[in-house]
Amino acid sequence: MADLLSIIVPCYNEEQTIITFYEEILKIKSQLSPMEIEFLFINDGSSDQTLQVLKDLEKKDPDQVKYLSFSRNFGKEAALYAGLEYSTGNFITVMDVDLQDPPSLLPKMYKLILTKEYDCIGTRRVTRNGEPKIRSFFAKKFYRIINKISDVNIVDGARDYRLMTRQMVDAILELKEYNRFSKGLFSWVGFETYYLEYENIEREQGNSSWSFWQLFVYSLDGIVAFSEFPLVLSAFIGLISFVVSIIALIFFFIRAAVFGDPTTGWPSMVCIILALGGLQLFCLGIVGQYLGKTFLETKKRPIYILKNKSESLTKKE
Ligand code: UDP
Ligand code: MG
Repeated sequence: MADLLSIIVPCYNEEQTIITFYEEILKIKSQLSPMEIEFLFINDGSSDQTLQVLKDLEKKDPDQVKYLSFSRNFGKEAALYAGLEYSTGNFITVMDVDLQDPPSLLPKMYKLILTKEYDCIGTRRVTRNGEPKIRSFFAKKFYRIINKISDVNIVDGARDYRLMTRQMVDAILELKEYNRFSKGLFSWVGFETYYLEYENIEREQGNSSWSFWQLFVYSLDGIVAFSEFPLVLSAFIGLISFVVSIIALIFFFIRAAVFGDPTTGWPSMVCIILALGGLQLFCLGIVGQYLGKTFLETKKRPIYILKNKSESLTKKE
């Protein structure tokens, strides 16, 4: 049987970009032969005409185009998970619809994965042209920090865009956690990954749907999901300040015994109280982050809820 490539595409308010994306993929399809392709679009609760565009596209090309549609916006991570669950190909790729993940890399990726040396061909941007400077700066810092303090290795500039074997996707589907941070999950499951490098491409149409604040919260999620270091840090800070305060206490006690105790120094006292109080709140906050995540996990809520889907689609058991 010929190879089948499932192309998983999360779409959130992307009515303008879907058709261009579809056409671009068809252009390179012949370079992938004899591999067949299937598109799996996930409408992540868009408020524009995305769903209608997908339905029309399915009518036009029912053999290759399938879609899933969520009951509301669940986020890109949930959309990826749904796509992986419903994919049937023996090779699977995940791509953004805005053509920032160049389809022209696919034939090369396919060739590499056929060598059987790798289970996954990832892609990595070596430049961040067209991205706000400050955003690149924090992105770089984020990768440095998370690689230092967690045991997953996340390559700087690595995109979600990757070509994977069925075996690796099945492994990822085993991870049913609610707080999903794909870059970490892809790395956590192991397997051999090769990173293709390319220059950044600016978004085709529309705007990036991530604000700086969302990205910031997303990176904190990534850290909390893959590292216990902040917990260790808070315990460490707590211990240090405790030891310091004991030493200071002994020092002040002896000083008072030897030199007497004039009632001065209350401003410094207030500072110390504030500092300790702040520290405790900080550490509580860290613990709270983890507790919050645990709380969400224990509820065992579904990662996404479907409202519509192509009739031909069934979940792989
Ligand atoms: N996306 C999604 N749900 C969301 C936000 C984004 O499915 O809540 C999709 C979006 O349609 C696109 C991909 O995720 O296909 C990447 O989004 P975007 O281009 O806005 O992000 P960036 O390239 O800036 O990381
Ligand atoms: Mg984009």
